[in-house]
Amino acid sequence: MYDYVIVGAGSAGCVLAARLTQDPDVSVLLLEAGPPDANQNIHVPLGYLKLAGTELDWNYFSAPEPRCDGRRIPLPRGRVLGGSSSTNAMVYIRGNPRDYDDWGVPGWSWADLFPYFRKAEDNERGASDWHGAGGPLPVSEQRSGNAISRAWVEAAVQAGLPRNDDFNGECQDGAGMYQVTQRGGLRASAAAAYLHPATSRPNLTVLTHMLVHRVLFEGTRAVGVAASQLGHVQELRAAREVILCAGAYNSPQLLMLSGVGPADHLRLRELEVVLDQPAVGANLSDHAATYAVWGTEEPESLLLAREPAALEQFMATQTGPLASNLAEAGAFVRVEPGVPAPDVQFHAIPVQILEEGTADPEGHGMLVTPCLLTPETRGCVRLASDDPTARPIVRNDFYASERDLERMVAALRLMLEIGAQPAIAPYCTTGMVVPEDDSEEALRAHARRTTFAIYHPVGTCAIGSVVDEQLRVNGLERLRVVDASVMPVVPRGNTNAPTIAIAERAADLISGAAPLASVTSPAASA
Ligand SMILES: Cc1cc2nc3c(=O)[nH]c(=O)nc-3n(C[C@H](O)[C@H](O)[C@H](O)COP(=O)(O)OP(=O)(O)OC[C@H]3O[C@@H](n4cnc5c(N)ncnc54)[C@H](O)[C@@H]3O)c2cc1C
Repeated sequence: MYDYVIVGAGSAGCVLAARLTQDPDVSVLLLEAGPPDANQNIHVPLGYLKLAGTELDWNYFSAPEPRCDGRRIPLPRGRVLGGSSSTNAMVYIRGNPRDYDDWGVPGWSWADLFPYFRKAEDNERGASDWHGAGGPLPVSEQRSGNAISRAWVEAAVQAGLPRNDDFNGECQDGAGMYQVTQRGGLRASAAAAYLHPATSRPNLTVLTHMLVHRVLFEGTRAVGVAASQLGHVQELRAAREVILCAGAYNSPQLLMLSGVGPADHLRLRELEVVLDQPAVGANLSDHAATYAVWGTEEPESLLLAREPAALEQFMATQTGPLASNLAEAGAFVRVEPGVPAPDVQFHAIPVQILEEGTADPEGHGMLVTPCLLTPETRGCVRLASDDPTARPIVRNDFYASERDLERMVAALRLMLEIGAQPAIAPYCTTGMVVPEDDSEEALRAHARRTTFAIYHPVGTCAIGSVVDEQLRVNGLERLRVVDASVMPVVPRGNTNAPTIAIAERAADLISGAAPLASVTSPAASA
């Protein structure tokens, strides 16, 4: 019997396990389906390119996307200590203050969350009005120093974008290099930053290779979970609460497997209904992204990581191509006239990635990917069967909103304009995966052909519908969800730091500590 059973040791689960066990009188059991994070490709930043499709990934695919040529889109998710923070691209972005204010949920505005972003943060630049120092999560400058990434930023400036040296500062708009969640050139996953420093605590038990099948209820009260390790199913009890931190696909899957979800759907899967809650698994939003790939004769791309010199450099100084997070540079822009904040984000990647990474690069080059920050389209997560080992069905339904496609076409036009600037010309000599021309028709076809989900699913256990303002599942007792799935709308940016900030605040809610005071500094009104 433990006080809290936490399901999933990802970005949120690691934060919660570490924060709740700061109180020696509280016991926590953290259950993770995947293995420990021993694989070196997790820790050497560029190594994560080799993790897709391995046993450290859930290897999900979307249902066929009707407006994307019927393709099934890969949906990578970490299945290992650290979860997706052990397999992600390490870009540190908080989103736009407006995102949280627009949620309209008491306790979750920018002023409420900003103190938790800062509490989590240990920024290499030091503490300032905008940044925290001394927190568990290292935020660092790029150590790869790739010439192509820097040239792309110059090209974006030549195309008229403002230069931005801090996307998490006063203004999000502009082009620049991303800061990354690394320390000393190594990945700082939530496991490295929060969990490992806490694992020696006697009140924290971490079990890996433990697949949770469902939540156990007595009436409407959650009392534990059923889980299997090496095929052996066992029941694990929680004296105070069960907390789901299984991510935006697996938390709604687990709720539905436990009888909590749309009753018709559950009956179709022959599951007993504990609570009819149509919002579970609905409201999925992700940043639809497209891309273009160019080749160059200039020997500057991350292909250099294959050279023995790159390994020597990394071993000696933790710099160079192997320290790259891949998505080194980027921009936040407004493509639709009159919008109040950026609606498109770019990631510029100094290497060719072909066939969704399954084909070898044909030489040096780069990939640029614009994504929609404020998509109108909503998808859903549903059960394929009542088998807890079966993959859930994920429908993104990208471009169900025509406005989303219009904005993507505008984003592709801007991508081509930046790609035509003198600063980037030496690195974009051969179009390998590019639109046929810049006509409306060609850009729409390119979007349909290349759109993918840029790994930021949220909304499937949203605050306000599935969970309340304390992240307790509405209509049930002693059950919470704390992970990316509770965000009602996807923020304007990458979702790891927001998930960590949410978990930091949730830890205070759960332990009964007074939440950090809301901030009324310029940061809150930016
Ligand atoms: C390839 C990729 C690149 C990304 N790049 C970035 C980036 O550069 N910057 C950024 O900010 N964000 C990025 N993200 C997104 C970010 O990592 C996620 O939003 C964030 O990690 C989500 O945290 P979470 O706690 O909700 O879920 P996760 O971190 O995915 O954690 C869920 C955990 O639960 C476990 N689990 C699930 N089901 C069960 C079960 N039934 N039983 C037991 N355990 C279970 C999983 O194995 C996993 O460990 C990226 C994501 C991916 C996949």
